[in-house]
Amino acid sequence: MTQEELFKKLIAHCKEYGYIFPSSEIYDGLGAVYDYGQNGVELKNNIKRYWWEAMVKLHENIVGIDSAIFMHPKIWEASGHVGAFNDPLIDNKDSKKRYRADVLIEDYMAKIEEKIEKETSKGQKKFGEAFDPAQFRATNPNVLRLVEKIDTVKQRMKEALNSGDLDALRNLIIDCEIACPISGTRNWTEVRQFNLMFSTQMGSVSSDTNQIYLRPETAQGIFVNFLNVQKTGRMKIPFGIAQIGKAFRNEIVARQFIFRMREFEQMEMQFFVRPGEETKWYDYWKNARMNWHRSLGFGNEKYRFHDHEKLAHYAKAAADVEFNFPFGFKEVEGIHSRSDFDLGNHQKFSGKKIQYFDPDTGENYVPYVVETSIGVDRMVLLVLSASYSEETVTKENGETDERVVLRIPPMLAPVKFAVLPLVKKDGMPEKAREIMNMLKFEYNSQYDEKDTIGKRYRRQDAIGTPFCITIDKQTLDDNTVTIRHRDSMQQERVAVAALAQTLDKLVNMKYALQNLNPEKYK
Ligand code: ATP
Repeated sequence: MTQEELFKKLIAHCKEYGYIFPSSEIYDGLGAVYDYGQNGVELKNNIKRYWWEAMVKLHENIVGIDSAIFMHPKIWEASGHVGAFNDPLIDNKDSKKRYRADVLIEDYMAKIEEKIEKETSKGQKKFGEAFDPAQFRATNPNVLRLVEKIDTVKQRMKEALNSGDLDALRNLIIDCEIACPISGTRNWTEVRQFNLMFSTQMGSVSSDTNQIYLRPETAQGIFVNFLNVQKTGRMKIPFGIAQIGKAFRNEIVARQFIFRMREFEQMEMQFFVRPGEETKWYDYWKNARMNWHRSLGFGNEKYRFHDHEKLAHYAKAAADVEFNFPFGFKEVEGIHSRSDFDLGNHQKFSGKKIQYFDPDTGENYVPYVVETSIGVDRMVLLVLSASYSEETVTKENGETDERVVLRIPPMLAPVKFAVLPLVKKDGMPEKAREIMNMLKFEYNSQYDEKDTIGKRYRRQDAIGTPFCITIDKQTLDDNTVTIRHRDSMQQERVAVAALAQTLDKLVNMKYALQNLNPEKYK
């Protein structure tokens, strides 16, 4: 199965099992807007909790807020979004399809990278055990030529983006002979800038003066509350403010399911530091955030850092955490060193002094900011795509069977366990209900008595329930149940009296939080 087929299957699975639905589906949907179903919302809430607790609970000097989506329009002038939150877009005149010019070029470079991979695996086959991939990449003439090609294109793109030279960007597309994937032609329009903010009117009268924006990021709500939180919380630098909330961007090319949406959710944390200490904290947050990602256990090789070619209008340094999605390595989180750009500009635009008196140095200054910014929906997609697995299993009688299983880390799974009476009689349903009632205050659980036990296990596998508790005849005799593990399909017998404690060890988020130990990155 190709990665593309796998991705299509995942999207269908998400719909079939109540994770994600296209928005307004009975009206044929709305571009790049999605709704979360009964399982999707639980997964999303668990991801948000894991992030929030890793930030706010584990760091004494980080607190949270929840600011409004609507904000004073001047904020977006101060932040630079009115002037510079643009994407360069280009249309193909034959297919009438619109693309982001930089994405077309990035896809072109990814194709060359694929060629390099192919050459490398050919070399691997040829030389067998003795093969050294690093040496091969450094010496093979074909590979060297391709690497040089990527470097040249990357350099030209960087220069064009940084200087805002739209003609140079178009020329690069022409020189690389990039064709529209739909029409196959190279009949391109000029490149134009397109502002990504949605605007609307506030109040009953429509005029330019009451035009407001739907926030394109949550960060500005934190900056404009810097003094409120610092003063009322008696916060001392360095300290952070965290927030989870909706953001809106009128993305030109919305594709890849919930990877790029027009309405999405962010989890952002701005960390305010003494000027001069930003590099130390930038490194700290890069490490701490990578550690958080890796703690989910999907495999360290699935993650990498990508340093930005083009720095956003506010940034001093920026790196993305990238994950190997079914469509390749893509950004899931950004870590940005933003200098005093935001607080400094809000000071200028609002006319209010936004400074911090540092009792340790006796100085007043505008703090510097290091931010971590992650998309909740991209995390949901990351977890689902890393968890989705199609397997052939051998049953006890030797026959084989297919199963689709979501190997979601138990602490994030929407339903933690299913309680299943083996048959619908002999007092088993009553016993099962008793166990449900004992556990339901701690964790989400599901009761299911319909169909054979095998079918019920498959249903739970498909939604990613990590444990099934089965009540059988022996339960009624000795008050023990079986716990069936989703991933290994092994079963163990546990006394009902020990059930709550056993399950707690398997699903409680606190153990993962204990292992994060953010102190070690200082
Ligand atoms: P991209 O380059 O993919 O457009 P970005 O660099 O503009 O992303 P940031 O502004 O750094 O993204 O936003 C921080 C995070 O918010 C991203 O890492 C991503 O996880 C998430 N995010 C941004 N745009 C979207 C979107 N349209 N849909 C879903 N998540 C998004």
